[in-house]
Amino acid sequence: MDTALADRLAAVDERIQDAARAAGRDLAGITRIVVTKFHPASLVSDLYALGVRHVGENRQQELTAKRAELVGIPDLVWHFIGQAQTNKARAVRAAADAVHSVDRSRIADALHGAADGHAALDVLVQVNLTDDPGRGGVAPDGAERLAAHVAELSSLRLRGVMAVAPLDEEPARAFERLRRSADAVRSVVPDAGWISAGMTGDFPEAIAMGATHLRIGSAITGPRPPRD
Ligand SMILES: *Cc1c(COP(=O)(O)O)cnc(C)c1O
Repeated sequence: MDTALADRLAAVDERIQDAARAAGRDLAGITRIVVTKFHPASLVSDLYALGVRHVGENRQQELTAKRAELVGIPDLVWHFIGQAQTNKARAVRAAADAVHSVDRSRIADALHGAADGHAALDVLVQVNLTDDPGRGGVAPDGAERLAAHVAELSSLRLRGVMAVAPLDEEPARAFERLRRSADAVRSVVPDAGWISAGMTGDFPEAIAMGATHLRIGSAITGPRPPRD
């Protein structure tokens, strides 16, 4: 086992604890998801041995393949955090325990349509915090309406909101907008209290804003291998 991996994980967890303490928050309200995209399934099993129980993937094929490879590992929660395509909804639904990237009604409908016999799927409304409509996520002023749509789909459990902070703005400022969207979504579904935010470069700011689910990749895994 890679001791550097254990060291990086411990260092990140210490920073999470520090940020939670500074914000007066209880660690029990913060789930650290390790983003393992582009890394082999063996990295996921190494992380599991270190106590990690939540992992994140952003491509459906990779998620499906790794989950199949690691099917014997109990209690591992797979979060899908990538752009979701309607024609992949069935595969996403089969492999993910939570989908963070619901950003339009059509993808919500497709996931609902793929319910088969699966248990209710945890989903989050992804909010676009940039000015670029081409980026993933619904515009902040559309989050409430999308939440109302998702709330009508019985096989989906609306949990909250997700976002990636823009590169060209103070993350704390961008996360304030996300918090307003989170409030708007909770006005529709009061217990949809998850806020998925915070990556390697901005997780302390996300914790200060109230993030409940951090998605941390390279600070823990080391640099990602090149995309294929
Ligand atoms: C890759 C990715 C992350 C993790 O990024 P790091 O900067 O490596 O921590 C988080 N969220 C999403 C949506 C990602 O695609």
